[in-house]
Amino acid sequence: MAGRSVPTHAANNSPRACPTCQGTGGHTITTRSNGKTAQSWQRCDDCKGTGTQGGGI
Ligand SMILES: [Zn+2]
Repeated sequence: MAGRSVPTHAANNSPRACPTCQGTGGHTITTRSNGKTAQSWQRCDDCKGTGTQGGGI
């Protein structure tokens, strides 16, 4: 009777925080026009705004 063998060689493929945006998915940029200040969200291009990277690197 062979017991269940759990594979221990599973690749560490879990998503991890994107090093570029520290897992935030992007950053806020401040633009000024006509004396007004506006903030907009700049999506991180490395993780496509997901904040995580995993697999396929
Ligand atoms: Zn990112």
